[in-house]
Amino acid sequence: MPHIEISPPLLDSGEEGVVRPTQVIVDLEALAHNFQEIRRWVHPAGVMAVLKANAYGHGLVPVARLLAHLGADYLGVAVLEEGILLRRAGIRTPILVLGGVLGSRIPLFLKYDLTLTASSMETLRQISEAAGALGRRARVHLKIDTGMERIGVHAENAERFLEEAVRCRHIHLEGIYSHFANADLPDPALTRWQWDRFQEVLGFFERHSLPMPLRHIANSAALVRFPETHLDLVRPGILLYGVYPSEAVPRRLSVRPAITWKTRVVYLKVVPQGRGVSYGWTWRAPRATRVATLPVGYGDGYFRALSNRAQVLLRGRRHPQVGTICMDQMMVQVEQEVPVAVGDEVVLIGCQGPACIPVEEVARWAGTIPYEVLTSINTRVPRVYRGPETLLRVLQDRQR
Ligand SMILES: *Cc1c(COP(=O)(O)O)cnc(C)c1O
Repeated sequence: MPHIEISPPLLDSGEEGVVRPTQVIVDLEALAHNFQEIRRWVHPAGVMAVLKANAYGHGLVPVARLLAHLGADYLGVAVLEEGILLRRAGIRTPILVLGGVLGSRIPLFLKYDLTLTASSMETLRQISEAAGALGRRARVHLKIDTGMERIGVHAENAERFLEEAVRCRHIHLEGIYSHFANADLPDPALTRWQWDRFQEVLGFFERHSLPMPLRHIANSAALVRFPETHLDLVRPGILLYGVYPSEAVPRRLSVRPAITWKTRVVYLKVVPQGRGVSYGWTWRAPRATRVATLPVGYGDGYFRALSNRAQVLLRGRRHPQVGTICMDQMMVQVEQEVPVAVGDEVVLIGCQGPACIPVEEVARWAGTIPYEVLTSINTRVPRVYRGPETLLRVLQDRQR
């Protein structure tokens, strides 16, 4: 399978051998398939692909290029800098910055043609003022708080907020949105309550015979479970990457994980019976035991909390991680009959032959959710993109 390595250039000399043996492999066909599966499911609604936090660890710019090429209607990022990176990479698809806005940064949104989230009366006025000063109209989506209590104007106070937005001359009111707090929990009651509140707010446009802006509220969990919430755009994050938000979300779309996190054995030895391994000797060899050392640790995002809990795949079988995980290295016990050599491939997340370790399982071992595992794989780990030539070419193309 052809592949290219794109980010990050820890060393970008292009020399043979500078790509770390510890890598995240991103399967472009899986990403493309997931996107198309979601698009089919939500049609005629459009898709705002959520690319925050380095595209959930998959690499911001490459994933954006791919999804823009496949026809994503909108891209969603969390912070201004992510939007700027995409524009500097030549991406022309509309981009909404989902997070709150500080007044001093508004001119940069305008400079890079990024859509702003207005989440208060105050921000709305600041945006209008900044846009007016530049003789521009700012593209804005209003944020309504229907129950998340994060950012946004409370639904019960939305009337004045909408009136003001409609009145501001330098605001192009393009969209209005809210966010579900509990769409991935088994009980749908709170989601229904938030949905009803959002509907009431949207009634404003009909009552005043005003054109309806783009409406969006559904994250991955809601778009799967509550098709009535699709509206004009859906905002999938985790599902695009082939992972379901929680057990409570039925597997109605066939998506598949796009990430494989791999490394290689760098050292092998036999630990004598009774000898402890790693900091604090939290694991002791019950008998003379073969132990392999891997060049990956919590400094790469493989949580220390996984110590003595995780398993890895080696020669197509599971082997337990043993001893405290270090910043840059960790040890695994080699199961008795398995032949292992230095240089052997080890899979931390993903499949090796018939065996798989899903990200959900790693999250459970660490006491967290798949979102945190994926977004914690840090930029020291190179991302390698695999897929057919046609998709690889898209990643190198600046004109999207
Ligand atoms: C992160 C985020 C999403 C995507 O959530 P998923 O559960 O990953 O689908 C959608 N909307 C907003 C506002 C977000 O912050």
